[in-house]
Amino acid sequence: MSRVERLRERLEEPLLVTNPVHVRYLIGFESSNAALLVEPERLRLYSDGRYATAAQALAGVEFVETRRSLLPSLAELLEGRIGFEEEHVTVAGYESLRAGGLELVARRGLVEELRAVKDETELDAIRRAAAITDEVYAAMAEEPFVGRSERELAWRMEQLFHEHGADAVAFEIIVGSGPTGSLPHGRPTGRVVESRELVVIDAGCVVDGYCSDCTRTFATGVVPEELTRVYSVCLEAQLAGLAAVRAGADGVAVDRAARQVTERAGYEKDFPHGLGHGVGLQVHEAPRLSQESESVLAAGNVVTVEPGIYLAGQAGVRIEDLVVVTEREPEVLSQFTKEPVAVQ
Ligand code: ZN
Ligand code: ZN
Repeated sequence: MSRVERLRERLEEPLLVTNPVHVRYLIGFESSNAALLVEPERLRLYSDGRYATAAQALAGVEFVETRRSLLPSLAELLEGRIGFEEEHVTVAGYESLRAGGLELVARRGLVEELRAVKDETELDAIRRAAAITDEVYAAMAEEPFVGRSERELAWRMEQLFHEHGADAVAFEIIVGSGPTGSLPHGRPTGRVVESRELVVIDAGCVVDGYCSDCTRTFATGVVPEELTRVYSVCLEAQLAGLAAVRAGADGVAVDRAARQVTERAGYEKDFPHGLGHGVGLQVHEAPRLSQESESVLAAGNVVTVEPGIYLAGQAGVRIEDLVVVTEREPEVLSQFTKEPVAVQ
């Protein structure tokens, strides 16, 4: 069944899809200014003249050219009861649709839930992105860290992604050395890496539109004993999280499985983020693995399992794998070693 047909089965009224990622997912059309109206028997794509040629080439989709100001234009063209993606329409956009006299029904999560379950083509792209990421981590581990700045290492890694065939990096690469590593999402700074400290690297790439996401923590020589212990607690939590990932498990329970390991070791305050997130066309998408998650895992979900322990002002450890959810144990896509890797 096509993606559009799967969406139609879930609709109670026509849905106006305005998130560009969703338009792309449903019909393969890339535009920053497009909306797709999904009805039981019709599929209409609205966009401005810049996209006319590409839009007219789509099979099974009627193209309607609009002005550059898309939603005010749609307010004139559409009528009746229409669902809209409430998380992807601005207040101004909503006001202009409403001014056209439409009966608007707020909907959320409809396309996100479809996207969360990947088909084989999608899984194949993600597997290739993850494999390139493994190669890049392996290449990176051969390079000197000490004496280079975090920014320099991040830039080198970005080069390696391109050299290994990635289309792009999936997000700005995170390199956190020593105290910078204690900021879970700190941006790489000009700090120069020293010996005998931990370096957290979080990176991923894009292949055929799909993302990978992986974190490893390196050590520049022998680190203080507490950091060695933190590393092994984090790894134990990561393995416990992985073991809990399977179809039918809920996002809170999987998070819990990992979190209780860090809590038992006395680091309950030092793991301040969720255990993981879905990955696909976007690097953060449904489902979520966290203490507030409302997700239940399904076969075909692709999620990260990434506990972290951060000692403020001192160091951080995070270990992140990308996995495919199945009815049994997950297929782990990140194959670069999780043993502490000593680098120069
Ligand atoms: Zn990551
Ligand atoms: Zn992640």
